[in-house]
Amino acid sequence: MTIMKSDVLSRLTEEKALPVTLADIEQAAARIVGRVARTPLIRSRTLCERTGQPVYLKLETHQPTGAFKLRGAMNAILLLDDAARKRGLVTASTGNHGRAVAYAARELGVRAIICMSSLVPANKVEAIRSLGAEIRIVGLSQDDAQEEVERLTESRGLTPIPPFDHADVVAGQGTIGLEIVENLPELAAVLVPLSGGGLAGGIAVAVKALKPQIRVIGISMERGAAMHAAIAAGKPVAIREEETLADSLGGGIGLQNHVTFTLCRDLLDDVILLSEDEIAEGIRHAARNESVTVEGAGAVGIAAILADKVGLSGPTAIIISGGNIAPKMHQKIVAGTTQ
Ligand SMILES: *Cc1c(COP(=O)(O)O)cnc(C)c1O
Repeated sequence: MTIMKSDVLSRLTEEKALPVTLADIEQAAARIVGRVARTPLIRSRTLCERTGQPVYLKLETHQPTGAFKLRGAMNAILLLDDAARKRGLVTASTGNHGRAVAYAARELGVRAIICMSSLVPANKVEAIRSLGAEIRIVGLSQDDAQEEVERLTESRGLTPIPPFDHADVVAGQGTIGLEIVENLPELAAVLVPLSGGGLAGGIAVAVKALKPQIRVIGISMERGAAMHAAIAAGKPVAIREEETLADSLGGGIGLQNHVTFTLCRDLLDDVILLSEDEIAEGIRHAARNESVTVEGAGAVGIAAILADKVGLSGPTAIIISGGNIAPKMHQKIVAGTTQ
């Protein structure tokens, strides 16, 4: 889709030419070390045999919250000054970002309020409450919860920690790219789950600044791929949200996107879309052949290879972004009784 232009590549090395730089990511790595896991990069025998190329899995499932989002949240919170930390944090995510903010806030002794609608299932509410966050139930939709975030930001001076469209969050996610290149200097390509683009944008800045020839491929589901639609339209566009196995990849990128749209448009070499059946196959393969429990969003890199939708030439790293899937749903998928 996007052909890398040399002017984009040269901007990677210019100070602040992109909203996030390699230096930001290196500083984030030094800041979060010891507070987030340096995750394992393991060789996948079955995927190596299947593709004839060296294929590795970067297991963000090993983070204490079960997903990579802890990196960005931790970096953003560590960058706040004492006054802001005293006032506290607020966010509206009920998924992996909400968990990350709750966990990082508790680790750092900062108060966090997670706003959610009354439709959020009790198990999700409890998962976040058990991490020590304060829960505020408001309204009947994610939009209502987001409005409460804005109200608390205005009225009480709480700091909102956004899930992807924030330079400090993107820099935290980019630390994954540094780790992979350190472990695998001959890296040729990275397959990255793509939703709001904090993960893919951060990794792309890191690996391309270190080695511009490394290809970064974003992978989303066919059902509601917001960044794919935005890149195709040349600007953020509204998308219809649909139910998908890759639930952590749902949602828009924000019509007023500040950071991640530009990064993904300029740096991603391609964006691949997957069907629900293909995503289920990825989850199944991870469980049966790699002994990893992976949620739908975390399985899309494996799924893209199994579906023959990505051509590999050289050592490839797949970001296994998270493992938070309801056990019953996981069992059904692995048993092959549902997609
Ligand atoms: C949030 C999330 C993603 C997508 O990250 P973006 O930065 O929004 O693109 C992928 N996988 C999992 C497990 C996630 O929680």
